[in-house]
Amino acid sequence: EVVPTKTRIAILASPGMGHLIPVLELGRCFAVHHRFLVTIFVVTTDPSTAQSQLPHYSSYQDLLDIVFLPPVDVSDLATGLSILSQLVLLMRRAMPILRTEIAALKPRPSALVVDLFGNEALEIADDFGMLKYVFNTTNAWFLALTLYYPHHDEADKHDHVYLHKPLNIPGCAPLEYEGTLDLNLRPDDRLLHEDYAKMGLDMAKVDGILLNSWEGLEPKTLKALRDPNSMGRFSSVPIHPVGPLVRPVKPVGNSVCQSKVLDWLDLQPAGSVLYVSFGSGGTLPADQLAELAWGLELSQQRFVWVVRPPSEGSAFGSFFRQGKRTEDGTPDYLPDGFLSRTREVGLVVEMWAPQTQVLAHESVGGFLSHCGWNSTLESLVSGVPMICWPLYAEQGMNAAMLSDHLGMAARLREAGPGVVVGREVIEKMIRRVMEKDEEHGKLVKAKVKELKRSAEAALAKGGSSHGSLEQVAKECKTGLTGLKERARG
Ligand code: UDP
Repeated sequence: EVVPTKTRIAILASPGMGHLIPVLELGRCFAVHHRFLVTIFVVTTDPSTAQSQLPHYSSYQDLLDIVFLPPVDVSDLATGLSILSQLVLLMRRAMPILRTEIAALKPRPSALVVDLFGNEALEIADDFGMLKYVFNTTNAWFLALTLYYPHHDEADKHDHVYLHKPLNIPGCAPLEYEGTLDLNLRPDDRLLHEDYAKMGLDMAKVDGILLNSWEGLEPKTLKALRDPNSMGRFSSVPIHPVGPLVRPVKPVGNSVCQSKVLDWLDLQPAGSVLYVSFGSGGTLPADQLAELAWGLELSQQRFVWVVRPPSEGSAFGSFFRQGKRTEDGTPDYLPDGFLSRTREVGLVVEMWAPQTQVLAHESVGGFLSHCGWNSTLESLVSGVPMICWPLYAEQGMNAAMLSDHLGMAARLREAGPGVVVGREVIEKMIRRVMEKDEEHGKLVKAKVKELKRSAEAALAKGGSSHGSLEQVAKECKTGLTGLKERARG
């Protein structure tokens, strides 16, 4: 009996849990639903944190071949580089070793999938005759902006950046300045704008773009992306929405997630707890952190709050600062006695919580979030309405989409760079979403439940996302993409 050789694909993850988590999920889908051999290459400066923060890391290890590339030395990077340019440089430095690793794989992968920052690896795929895909780990609207960005009219960009006019994206909702990309707050950073434009140009040349969204969530944007008279003018690459891909709440196998947070949630009434978290690295300046603490306390709502020491200047965490504590154990960056005063209603978790389990817990009824796309999807699949407090990257766009376009979230409009949102504003917003008889809260809850059902339908057998992944799997098996098939036919 001839045993057919399995198809192998390689997926490259750029640094950051927000990139690694959806990449692992995509890998899991290829392995479980399509029986592929999956090799995940991870670029990181800190492999041990990445592993320890993933509660079910070992269940991924059973399914996937996960290769942590040797940490890249970045000690010589110029100070003041944007996060995006730092990521681009880190990835560039990992390319030689990635090439060696791919060359050594047997069987050779039939396709290479990279995330947004992996575009330089596409050349390696070309050299080895592999199909190449980009996995856009966020939504279609951000994808459209990225593809269009290199083609934007300079005058329009100028009006957006300096006069705060909305930025047009053909066939899609325009980008209001309020939710603009943080790179537009650094208009003079030439390298940053060149790096971002190159991402858009490179992406327009792959065999397919996978994205962590689905047809039912963004019908208008997806239509524009495929329309040759609209966004399709800038890229005719097939678009495959395969989402929402989020970590399963129940781990594969029999590992159990034990945690103080989940035990505490078990004791709270259904839908009563606000979960507060700013993603894998986000944090707030000291004065803002204190106002948030007061706002939570004044709201008198139950909460779980993942706190990190305040940032100095950047919203991107200061992970390694060791804080001092006051007598009741309150970290010195929170108001004095905060833990004692909120002991009955709140739980403060330092650094990291098992987020998907928390959001899926029936006691949780709201999520105050920085609107990272993974957090957003995790909230949505658990049917939890959000309060948007975007910090950096494309989070402002996500916030605009969730509140203004989709209506599944309330948005803290006062928040923004250099602004400290006061405790009363925060208190009021929390009450608006969490208090049972608040109209606004009821509306966003209904909307998020509707979207949850739409997500489930997309992922089910016969659903659009299920079908998209099947299509990509077929291409990888046959080496023939939709584009090439069409060219032949
Ligand atoms: N996360 C977590 N526990 C935490 C903070 C974050 O498990 O305490 C996970 C979260 O569930 C999500 C990811 O880290 O999957 C963060 O990704 P997201 O896109 O939301 O934001 P980013 O970290 O990229 O800003």
